[in-house]
Amino acid sequence: DSTINKIAAGEVVERPASVVKELIDNSIDAYATDIRVEIRGSGTKNITIVDNGTGMSHKDASLAFQKHATSKIKTIEDLNSVMTLGFRGEALASIASVAKVEMVTRQKEDISGTKVVVDNKGLKSISAAGSPVGTTISVEDLFYTTPARRKYLKSMRTELAHITDVVTRYAISYPDISFTLVSDGKEIVRSPSSRDLLDSIVHLYGADVARSLIPLEFESDLVSISGYVSKPELTRSGNDLQAFFINGRSISSRLISNAVRLGYYTLLPKGRYPAAFLKFTIDPKFVDVNVHPTKREVRLSHEKEIENMIIRAVEDALASTDL
Ligand code: ADP
Ligand code: MG
Repeated sequence: DSTINKIAAGEVVERPASVVKELIDNSIDAYATDIRVEIRGSGTKNITIVDNGTGMSHKDASLAFQKHATSKIKTIEDLNSVMTLGFRGEALASIASVAKVEMVTRQKEDISGTKVVVDNKGLKSISAAGSPVGTTISVEDLFYTTPARRKYLKSMRTELAHITDVVTRYAISYPDISFTLVSDGKEIVRSPSSRDLLDSIVHLYGADVARSLIPLEFESDLVSISGYVSKPELTRSGNDLQAFFINGRSISSRLISNAVRLGYYTLLPKGRYPAAFLKFTIDPKFVDVNVHPTKREVRLSHEKEIENMIIRAVEDALASTDL
């Protein structure tokens, strides 16, 4: 079974940033409003995430690292209407199969918390422990059982960049939640909860980026779009200044990214991408989010119409301002 977990782990845990992503997903699913991520050695030595979410009961804590131990799906109907970010019950089991994990958690109604220690051989210990309400999970020596995978990691700098990107994307996607990322004792991301998208952009990307943005609003029967795109003066060689949300969920979509670019026609230099922070409201029946278990790639029906509307929305936004 530990082999099965290790294989499955390859799917979920590709690099330190994937661990950070899965743990943040769980904190958000647990209604945390404050999520703090501390890493050492770009996450290869240690990743600790502290949340103030609901926490777990002693029993749930003892089950959390078992494969398919999800608390999020109880009926077949749930499967058709998943609102939580996780529901497969694989992340914690996968992480524990490739690292040494400690978790301390407490629910509000419990007097005492629970501490669980797990390694690749399974549960090592479970005991009562003092804990604030919420959950702290510490992931030590990632990939210590699989040196091959460890070698496959890119430079420390690249791994840190991936983690920073993950935390930044969550921070922009969940403005109600405050996020902090500390790397080797140094604060890298600090995003207090804020009510509005532009506010978050200023915090996360800086005032210079915010200054180059143009508001975009678009409304049709099929889709409504609101957010910001940049003047053509602000571009990047990749999509690191782009964030898209469909019905409140952060997603990635090549269709959307390309359509935004098309809206600029010849205004963008070759190979450059504008900044774009856009929220889409689309009837959920036209959106398929479960294309891949870990990536937030979505598939949309009415692709051609939606693409055309994005192009028009970007054109309108650009036409509304002096470039
Ligand atoms: P999934 O998220 O798909 O349910 P995971 O392996 O990520 O599976 O987590 C297993 C279970 O552990 C979750 O269903 C949840 O009940 C519990 N859990 C994990 N992390 C937290 C957390 N930060 N706060 C509260 N409960 C958590
Ligand atoms: Mg999960």
